[in-house]
Amino acid sequence: MEIVTAPEQPGASVRLRPEIAALPAYRQGRPAPADGFKLSSNENPHEPLPGVEAAVAASAHEIHRYPDATALAVRERIAGRFGVTADEVIVGAGSVSLIAQFISAAAAAGDEVVYSWRSFEAYPGLVTVAGATSVRVPNRADHSHDLEAMAAAITDRTRVVIVCSPNNPTGTVVTADEFERFMAAVPGDLLVLLDEAYIEFVRDEASVDGRTLIGRYPNLIVLRTFSKAYGLAGLRVGYAIGPVAILDAARSTAIPLSVTAASSAGAIASLDAEAELLARVDVIVERRDRVRAALIAQGWPIPQAQGNFVWLPTGDATSAVAERLFDAGLVTRAFPPEGIRVSVGEEESVEILLRILGELVPASQEGAAV
Ligand SMILES: *Cc1c(COP(=O)(O)O)cnc(C)c1O
Repeated sequence: MEIVTAPEQPGASVRLRPEIAALPAYRQGRPAPADGFKLSSNENPHEPLPGVEAAVAASAHEIHRYPDATALAVRERIAGRFGVTADEVIVGAGSVSLIAQFISAAAAAGDEVVYSWRSFEAYPGLVTVAGATSVRVPNRADHSHDLEAMAAAITDRTRVVIVCSPNNPTGTVVTADEFERFMAAVPGDLLVLLDEAYIEFVRDEASVDGRTLIGRYPNLIVLRTFSKAYGLAGLRVGYAIGPVAILDAARSTAIPLSVTAASSAGAIASLDAEAELLARVDVIVERRDRVRAALIAQGWPIPQAQGNFVWLPTGDATSAVAERLFDAGLVTRAFPPEGIRVSVGEEESVEILLRILGELVPASQEGAAV
């Protein structure tokens, strides 16, 4: 008898880490159709300010040189705004890079990283790449973090806890009171990452604000980014603030020289133009609140929305609803069988979104078939 084996894919026999080989390959969301809208990555719909674009263009003059390894100029600017020293600031190629650096600095094989779920889709992969184990704590019924359950999930193997406020993709915030109780409950030697990628869009006064916590906890790192409110997603630049000893460890796990001169130039020009950029954030916030109110009026149970996106709890109908939105020209981020995250994008996308969702609401709520 002849044994026929399927031809192997080149490279498939090379010994890789099994947990890495098992990860789903990264696939970016579908591009928006020609006259459609990309509402799938929480990007800022406003084009760059001319001054920011000019600063980035001017940086091209030095691309034959390596960048400043520590992005000192950006760190000094951020330090000045937060009232800390430049050593208490770290800049990375997006705050996702920084989260990876902090996890790698604190957690390895056998260690646990606690975070809420559903939360930022990047967390599971970053934990696995570090060799550590994810411990996911379910969100409360209102889609917010259950900080008491997260504190209860901490064991002597836990090395990192990630708190995401506003939470991507559900939009809910952790309150300042909840967060302070949480910090009082967790061991002082356990690294806590407060991921505030959307803080500039928050209008809930009860919300935690990392800025007010800086210097108060020896185990707390506050992470922010230029990708969302400042509209620099394509440049890759984010930062974190916290105790120097922890930042030094994260500097050791960084891939050297990944913050480019263009990224630094864009970040500094954005800080120079901050008033104008934050006025644009106000525009998005007004649009977000209008979209959420209209969807609630249609009967959608939309949770608190404090980021630049809204969460549709579509349950089993998730893929079908996302498909209907796609057919109407709206690319969204579907997480079947839980829900759909829709970024607040161009004003012209709002009418389409509300029209399609208005047609779907009676049947698609709470997971019923469309
Ligand atoms: C977008 C986002 C980030 C940061 O992204 P970068 O572009 O890498 O700075 C971090 N955390 C959350 C929850 C996000 O949604």
